[in-house]
Amino acid sequence: MIISTGTASGKSLAYLTPAIASCLGGGTVLYLTPTKALAADQLRGLRELRITQLRAACFDGDTPFEERTWVRQHANYVLTNPDMLHRSILPRHAQWSTFFRRLRMVIVDECHGYRGVFGSHVAQILRRLRRACARYNARPTFMLASATASEPGAFATRLTGLEMDEVTVDTSPKGSTTIALWEPPLTELRGEGGAPVRRTATAEAADLLADLVLADVRTLAFVRSRRGAETVALSARAKLADVAFSISPPFPTPLNTTTTLTPPSAEATSPSPSAGATPPPPPATNASPSPSAGAPSPSPSSLTAPTVTPTHGPTHGPLTWALPDAPDHDLADLPNKIAAYRAGYLAEDRRLLEKALRAGTIMGLATTNALELGVDVSGLDAVLIAGWPGTRASLWQQAGRAGRDGQDALAVLIARDDPLDTYLVHHPEALFGQPVEAIVLDPGNPYVLGPHLCAAAAEIPLTEDDLPIFGATTSKVLDDLVAQGLLRRRPAGWFWTRRERATDLADIRGGGGSPIQVVESSTGRLLGSVDEPSAHTTVHTGAIYLHQGETFLVELLDLDAGVALVTSANPDYTTFARDITDISILSTERSQALGSGTLHFGEVEVTRQVVSYLKRRLQSGEMLGDEPLELPPRTLRTRAVWWTLPASAVAPLAEAGIDLGGAAHAAEHASIGLLPLFATCDRWDIGGVSTELHADTGLLTVFVYDGHEGGAGFAERGYARATDWLTATREAIMSCECERGCPSCIQSPKCGNGNEPLHKRGAIRLLNTLLASQ
Ligand SMILES: [Zn+2]
Ligand SMILES: [Zn+2]
Repeated sequence: MIISTGTASGKSLAYLTPAIASCLGGGTVLYLTPTKALAADQLRGLRELRITQLRAACFDGDTPFEERTWVRQHANYVLTNPDMLHRSILPRHAQWSTFFRRLRMVIVDECHGYRGVFGSHVAQILRRLRRACARYNARPTFMLASATASEPGAFATRLTGLEMDEVTVDTSPKGSTTIALWEPPLTELRGEGGAPVRRTATAEAADLLADLVLADVRTLAFVRSRRGAETVALSARAKLADVAFSISPPFPTPLNTTTTLTPPSAEATSPSPSAGATPPPPPATNASPSPSAGAPSPSPSSLTAPTVTPTHGPTHGPLTWALPDAPDHDLADLPNKIAAYRAGYLAEDRRLLEKALRAGTIMGLATTNALELGVDVSGLDAVLIAGWPGTRASLWQQAGRAGRDGQDALAVLIARDDPLDTYLVHHPEALFGQPVEAIVLDPGNPYVLGPHLCAAAAEIPLTEDDLPIFGATTSKVLDDLVAQGLLRRRPAGWFWTRRERATDLADIRGGGGSPIQVVESSTGRLLGSVDEPSAHTTVHTGAIYLHQGETFLVELLDLDAGVALVTSANPDYTTFARDITDISILSTERSQALGSGTLHFGEVEVTRQVVSYLKRRLQSGEMLGDEPLELPPRTLRTRAVWWTLPASAVAPLAEAGIDLGGAAHAAEHASIGLLPLFATCDRWDIGGVSTELHADTGLLTVFVYDGHEGGAGFAERGYARATDWLTATREAIMSCECERGCPSCIQSPKCGNGNEPLHKRGAIRLLNTLLASQ
């Protein structure tokens, strides 16, 4: 069974009730969540129930060795994650036999996180779990809980390999939420190729956060990085310090009575201090607060409390928010009502924060989405979302944080300069009345399946009877594994006979290749690992690397040693790796006509080389330079979707003076930006190549490929939804008011050619040709 409903709709209660009943009846329950933090919170909740027969325990990397035996032998409710199941529990299933024999329920919580390559790995781990259960004659019920998703039953079947029922109706009480789509204005700054730069989503979020807090609206701002969240909190506090400085108590009468979201005018948003930045004039009273109004006052001990000095930074003009009737503001304390939150807080810190929010000592909180895991912040009035969170599902999940006790609420999506964000703020119909995304994964990917078949054979030798569990491609992959000497075929089945651990073959959170260890140079602390292909783009020398919302600067990437040395840093810029790519077609699996062209899906070989990285200022988006890198090229066998147009279709465009190469390149960039709307992926999960004349097709061709060895299902989804996808791409380009292309439409931060050549009008013409009569 899968329950797929919104935030705070009671999913936990729905699985806890039968789960606890199973434990009371002598059975055991296995609870899986993507992160340790969430498991720890669940455990706390279970213990608070004070049911003596319920022996719940976490089993993860932090569980002390001496406790592990107790958990295996005595716990009847075990909370763990897919990594532990893969590396520890399944390989040592014999030690868990008591637990497995009585296993009645497997709960897979937050399962919408299991998408793409990671999801495909988890799908195979769950199949191995089913085999282990069968070994001990257990037939547990699988209960999945997910944020709202499209076709959750089909997804759950792909994830578990079992027939699944779905529950999708949410009857929990809810007020209405007003959703505002907010596009920051273009500024006077100039970026690559003289393109205009849009005001950043974080700068706008800071302004809105300050305004909302001033109006006594409890607000949460979601920002992508911790550094970004801190910047938002800091500039919002600075704005409030300004206000506290300029307005003396008693508070002036309400400025106006309507609550209007007025997009800032372009001239008022110039980053230099401008006329529009003047706060309301101080009323004529005698009390005058001192400029030290911003000094921090007692706040929850470990919450980030940046020091604030009143400044006149960028702002978006006079406050347009209605002030409630004479709010009881202590002006001196105003800036301290805003805090930043980051991942890695201890449970006690999080409880303090929840309390401060509930009590109103903190009114505005800027956070990374780390908050999704483990803080109960229901009871907010507004949510600001700085930048498209990637999926409609996450958008609704984040927006669902607003609205206390069934009251009405506000959610604002602030666009970043990205084609997808541009498209969405101009096309509300793409958000409203649309089903949320399907969660895409491809358990049949041979690069994922192979290592898990080895792990499965090491756990319990594989027999013919096991083949249906692992899917249609199993026989072929087994043959390959035998040929590679990884498995041995004997009359009784397939055996793992090697000395090393089979589970080491699968890097479930990466994408294959031997992983690069990310190590903090000053302490030697291992922060995590990045798979080798991604290392070139995420931890190259000079890269700004985000780890759980924390910012690090990569001092050195040593591919031979398999190490990236990083140091904690707070630079005011972000980096984007740029690569140049070649692609050749290995086989075409499917083709269909599309307008005057043809659409294909198949296997390709991609050669990519990261050649430089771009630095962009965090707050303004201004380009700071392009630094060269020396990294070897990599080849990747993956799946791609591509479209071609015959010479007869493009000749009229060339005659009209359109640079076909630039037009195809622009269409490629924008289409990569838009694919995440149709397949649950990130623009960094996919790549593209475009050319006026491709050697394999002999035609103008635009490719979009999965950036993971073997593919991850994204390009396949693009093939299936090509008309909608390319129509949205065209709309995104047309919606952008820039003249010749900017990061909000056709420029790409990861373009290896420095966004040259690009032809905006030409891209629209090409897409028109492709979408004609569709
Ligand atoms: Zn543009
Ligand atoms: Zn490019």
